[in-house]
Amino acid sequence: MNRRRALLSIAPALAFSTWLPRAWAQTIPRASAVPGGVARVRLGAAAAAPRAHLGNDRLLVVREGDEWIALVGIALATKVGTKLKVEAERASGTLERFDIPVGPKQYAAQHLKVPPGQVDLSPEDLARYERERVHLAAVLGTFSEAPPATLAMLQPVPGTRSGTFGLRRYFNGQPRSPHSGMDIAAPTGTPVVAANAGRVVDSGDYFFPGRTVVLDHGQGLLSLYSHLSAIEAGVGDAVTAGAPIGKVGATGRVTGPHLHFAVYLNAVAVDPALFLPA
Ligand SMILES: [Zn+2]
Repeated sequence: MNRRRALLSIAPALAFSTWLPRAWAQTIPRASAVPGGVARVRLGAAAAAPRAHLGNDRLLVVREGDEWIALVGIALATKVGTKLKVEAERASGTLERFDIPVGPKQYAAQHLKVPPGQVDLSPEDLARYERERVHLAAVLGTFSEAPPATLAMLQPVPGTRSGTFGLRRYFNGQPRSPHSGMDIAAPTGTPVVAANAGRVVDSGDYFFPGRTVVLDHGQGLLSLYSHLSAIEAGVGDAVTAGAPIGKVGATGRVTGPHLHFAVYLNAVAVDPALFLPA
């Protein structure tokens, strides 16, 4: 189908101010169009779900009452002021475009001084890291058509949640990747449960994240659990929300036992706290 010919309208920028704050607070995920956040795009009423894209990535589309809503994960690296271009295609072929302005969000910075040479990987480790990075990027780009039964998630282990999602890390002044998940402190051996119903799409023992399980909840919503001491789910397994999938540990590059819990939407890490009970 010719997309240009099908383009009938360009929707104006989202009218965030028209949303009821109360309804907003009750909605999971809690939406905010900021780096590391989730934007909500109202696609209007239709019998069949529209397909929505951000660039080449399909977006999660859910029904709310009469209306379809696209949920857009916004990458931490997105510059404030960027206008994300979301395209929605109705079953009829009608194409609509939405501009989503990305607002400011300040994440904390952490500066670490380490002996020179200690932050650099050996050529072997670097090659392994590169292979694993490519593999995990492919896994986290999974898009399966079946929508999630719910967007609300369970905290996968009891314990104190660190608010370190998005933390900007510097080693000897050199920027590293920002922290892509939430760390939950818990002793080694504590059972880790699936935050939401889904299917195991990957498990492995990786250089930085250690023993890791990735669940696909549908439509590009995934969750990742790292540093496990044990993995108790196999690739392809269907799991229910709350089902055990492994145990807390300190595998990979960590200083102590904890769960690294991350949530991905359209292949970008978003703040897991947006999906958890307040
Ligand atoms: Zn972490």
